[in-house]
Amino acid sequence: MPVLHKYKNKNEYYILTMIGKAVATFHLKSEGYRKLANAGIKMGATFPRALLLDLYRSGDAYTHKGPAGDAGTKPQKLQLKLDFPDDPEPESLFPCCSACSSVANLHVVEIKQPEHSAAILCSACRAKKVIDSSIPLSLVSLQILSGLLKMKGIQQVDSSILAYQKLLDAEFENKWADLFKNKPQQKKMFDPEPSKT
Ligand SMILES: [Zn+2]
Repeated sequence: MPVLHKYKNKNEYYILTMIGKAVATFHLKSEGYRKLANAGIKMGATFPRALLLDLYRSGDAYTHKGPAGDAGTKPQKLQLKLDFPDDPEPESLFPCCSACSSVANLHVVEIKQPEHSAAILCSACRAKKVIDSSIPLSLVSLQILSGLLKMKGIQQVDSSILAYQKLLDAEFENKWADLFKNKPQQKKMFDPEPSKT
């Protein structure tokens, strides 16, 4: 499950979560933090993956290339929390590069060769392909995606594209509402570490 953290030296927040076997960092825009705070999510608390997916697709949370700079969390401690198995949304819902599974700096791209197709690729993998259109994932809505496929006459889409369509189509609104309803209970179940700041 994702965990909310605060940067040590600035008034900004980030989220850590396990995707595959790697820890992924999602930086939060202030709007994203506001949404989590309103839902009762405190620093150091775990929260349902659906919420992060919702923040991610709305652009309120975004991935960054490198590791989280001053994110001073100990890996082992982190692992324990992030491996929390009780989450209805599979981590496979997170978009990732169809070539290397990276989650950083993803674009929807139109690949020209060997076959005209669409896929989601990270920057390193984009550099190795002959591509035409390339749109940052956070800007790609369902409408834009179908418009791109139609306009460019792309018949073949990668499984990464199909997965992203599924994510954009998913209904997460009620997950926020559920959290509101279960606030006191949620606090008890996932007792956050005492915050040090
Ligand atoms: Zn890649």
